[in-house]
Amino acid sequence: MHERTDAAERAFCILPFRGLSTDTFGRVVACCENMVPAIPGRNAHVPLDEQVNCEHLKSIRRDMLAGVRAPTCGRCWDSEDQGGYSYRKYWNDKLLGDLSIDDVARQVNPDGTVERYEPLMMEIALGNTCNLRCLMCSSHNSSSWRKEAMELGEITRDEAKALKTIDWYTDRNFHDQFRRLATDLKHISFWGGEPLIIDEHVDLLRICIDVGVSREITLKYASNLTKLAPELLEVWGHFRKVWISVSVDAYGDLNHYIRYPCDWARLEQNIQTLGTWSRQIPLRLNISATFQMLNILRLDELYPWVFNVMKTYGHDRMPYVGWVSAPEFMSCQVAPAPIKKLAFARQMEFIRRYSVASPHSFEAHLAERLKSHLARLVERVDTRWQERQWAAFCAYIDRHDAYRGTRVFDHCPEFADHWVTADSATPEARAT
Ligand code: SF4
Repeated sequence: MHERTDAAERAFCILPFRGLSTDTFGRVVACCENMVPAIPGRNAHVPLDEQVNCEHLKSIRRDMLAGVRAPTCGRCWDSEDQGGYSYRKYWNDKLLGDLSIDDVARQVNPDGTVERYEPLMMEIALGNTCNLRCLMCSSHNSSSWRKEAMELGEITRDEAKALKTIDWYTDRNFHDQFRRLATDLKHISFWGGEPLIIDEHVDLLRICIDVGVSREITLKYASNLTKLAPELLEVWGHFRKVWISVSVDAYGDLNHYIRYPCDWARLEQNIQTLGTWSRQIPLRLNISATFQMLNILRLDELYPWVFNVMKTYGHDRMPYVGWVSAPEFMSCQVAPAPIKKLAFARQMEFIRRYSVASPHSFEAHLAERLKSHLARLVERVDTRWQERQWAAFCAYIDRHDAYRGTRVFDHCPEFADHWVTADSATPEARAT
């Protein structure tokens, strides 16, 4: 039996013991912050309850129970070392409850194997089926990207073929495993791809209802909300809580340009529908926006829209703003200095005008997060890196504008004075 120590507490995370996360290929990973897959290859159809005892996860469990920080969990350790609230802490706080580390450890063999895996939470990436081609995304996360990426030479024909059929979640064996694994579940997060256009996700919800555990479960979605099936109101009504994080990166036409070809009118309509549903079932709604090159100059238009829409329905009036660091050229640190200065000024103006409801609310946390992104935006960066990445950004946007028949300057005219083409880029920038 493992004895609990302070060191174990500092290194322990509930997720490799009582969580079950997959990547888009159906491979088990420790969590969405540690995406090292349990098995090699793609689309392998290996049962989840076998994958949870792969050597990678067993070694994480052994490390954690020995009080050693698992090396592949670097994101959490970095966040904690900087005084942040890591994903590990979030889930330990949510799931440990009355359980002690010793209770969890008792279910684990000395080699790290868990004989009877009973997840409390699942994070399921339901393949890559998606109806949008967001400019900061890729074929791995959106099937709609494949043709364009292949025709522009960004992926090979073989890669495009492999990415066409990520359908492990349609396998009836997976549904049977899910039924077996669902008995203790408290949380399920769906992502993809776009989970709300994947019919099988409703099959999984119906399994939870059928097994009699749905009232215990909080569902969480990351969705583009371009589609919203009316039947979901009835299905979601069986669950404890539903939390939808809607991805919106800009107001109106710019959102259509970035999250191509998202229909803004339909999106607004679906948000309204969800707002109405949130008065009938326990449904929480928030807007998630990226913080990246293509929207930094116009996020100040998105914030008031979010503020007003969410205020109507009583949800968080600030968006959750996520810093984009991949692909590297989409990081807004790449922008020329005058663009950064302008973006900073416009967003600070919004922050000055709208004060949050309560200083200790989640909304206040979101506002602080936005301020920290703005501080990072204007940090000094290596000029040569910045110049190289800016050239890569311009080339990428030119290529996709030509393919789609779109034009970045229609949305971000401020870029035009700084734009570089293959001919005008410096030799160093061209070399990348
Ligand atoms: S410590 Fe962090 S990265 Fe590792 S499994 Fe837990 S949440 Fe994931």
